[in-house]
Amino acid sequence: MATLRTFLRRHLLWVGFLAVVIPLLVLLGVQYQSLKELERTSPLARRAMLTNYLQAVVKEIETIYRMDAERVLNIPPETCSEERIHRVSYHFKKKLSCGARELFVMLFAPNGESRTFFYDATDRGMKLRSDCPQARAVTLACTPWRLVRLQNAGVETTTLSFSDHDPQNPIILNPIVDEASRVIGVAGMIVDVAHFQDKVLPRVIQETLARSFSNNEGENLIVMAYDSSGRKVYTSQPSEGRGEVVWLSLPFVFEKWRLGIQSRDETPEQWARRYMMINLSLSVLMTIMLIGGIVLALRTASREMKLSQMKTDFVSNVSHELRTPLASIRVFGELLKMGRVTQPDKVAEYGQYIETESQRLTQLINNILDFSKIESGQKTYHFELTDLTELVSETLKTVEVQLKQRGFSIDFQRPHEPLPPALIDPQAIAQALMNLLDNAVKYSGSARQIHVRVGHIKAEATVSVTDHGLGIPREEQTKIFERFHRVSTGLVHDVKGSGLGLSIVKHIVEAHRGRVTVESELGKGSTFTIHLPLQPASRQP
Ligand code: ADP
Repeated sequence: MATLRTFLRRHLLWVGFLAVVIPLLVLLGVQYQSLKELERTSPLARRAMLTNYLQAVVKEIETIYRMDAERVLNIPPETCSEERIHRVSYHFKKKLSCGARELFVMLFAPNGESRTFFYDATDRGMKLRSDCPQARAVTLACTPWRLVRLQNAGVETTTLSFSDHDPQNPIILNPIVDEASRVIGVAGMIVDVAHFQDKVLPRVIQETLARSFSNNEGENLIVMAYDSSGRKVYTSQPSEGRGEVVWLSLPFVFEKWRLGIQSRDETPEQWARRYMMINLSLSVLMTIMLIGGIVLALRTASREMKLSQMKTDFVSNVSHELRTPLASIRVFGELLKMGRVTQPDKVAEYGQYIETESQRLTQLINNILDFSKIESGQKTYHFELTDLTELVSETLKTVEVQLKQRGFSIDFQRPHEPLPPALIDPQAIAQALMNLLDNAVKYSGSARQIHVRVGHIKAEATVSVTDHGLGIPREEQTKIFERFHRVSTGLVHDVKGSGLGLSIVKHIVEAHRGRVTVESELGKGSTFTIHLPLQPASRQP
């Protein structure tokens, strides 16, 4: 249990990452499966959707013609004699229908004879007609009812019927029945095919299209109608579609007409595949974005954790760094105060210790103060034309004595030819050099030789510090310039430090538009080089 807890704590970020990513991937897998299933069933749904649309059109057309016929053809039975036929014309005049080309009434005599009166809209009267194509179509359409009349049988219910024997003259019929439920005549209308084809059909198709589909979808669909002779009488778009056509017959008097619908450029299967690909791509994209977000968040969290750990180490390291010189200063100070040391050379030696340790303290505190200024963006530089070689030489002089006392020998090499004065902040560059020297001393191990060289490569002045100490592993060589970063492996682990020195060097050098590089081999030593641009004074920072 305890091992598990330790494992979880140590790998907290990975555990968190996996805890989010695994369910996400499972979810993606499940979604893929359901999208596949949807892709299989979608074509059926698509076809059903297109059929539904056609059914809606058919229903609308049927409603229009049924309602019109019921309204116009409902003739009162008492008008069914030649003497009262003018009352029918009055009825037709009142209920005029625009879907009808002709309105008529056929009256049956008890012996089965029939006479057909057509409504004449110009003089608003009923005219007897028998030898025109319309009259013949009417006679044919009414034959079943005449037979019913001949048999003198009563009818239980009367409903609208239709006849499409003559495609030019489709007819809707409504039987007229007396009180004894006998059929005494038939009222009817010859449907105006041109009006249906040019007005009613396009209007119903377009209105239903707009109701059933979104604009985009509607534009991608082609609706067409064929009349009873198989002639295309309507298409919603001039172009030819590529998808499979779904068919349905028109209703009622237009039973032999056919209505078809198809996609302009894809079959239901292609449509389903496209939607599946869009959905899948969106899901994958969102998953990638989510994982990306999580990785970023975890990286930030990991950095923060590392930084927080580094800060903790920093506090403990700095405390140690402060405590050691302070302890030495106190001990030597007490010895001098109590007068225990009388020999002049010992007094000088102890005084030298106190001075050296104070210098170390000053440098450490300077570094901490500089670091805090850099972090808050308040570090300022005062550039002046300076002889770089002289600056390095002066800086070395301040540490020479104490380094010699610790057994170090410094080899200082000046450039072959004098460098032009550089526009730099002398104090800052001296501080950077001190940090490099301090590191060279700290990480020299048993080696005691340090080389300092001033030179120039092309338009750059260089100051390099070389030691023959512990060296730095290759993978650490870029990280050591990060604030608080300390190599935690090998012998270096035993040397105390704050982890600020090199980050300050880097900041100072970059403020001079220069760079700091390192060449190092583990166990053999390191060379840190400050490169400063040597440019005409006017172009200096
Ligand atoms: P520190 O106070 O730890 O020396 P620095 O920022 O000066 O902080 O250095 C960062 C790390 O780089 C050091 O902890 C050390 O591991 C490594 N380092 C710096 N200079 C040298 C060197 N001359 N030789 C070996 N390692 C070095």
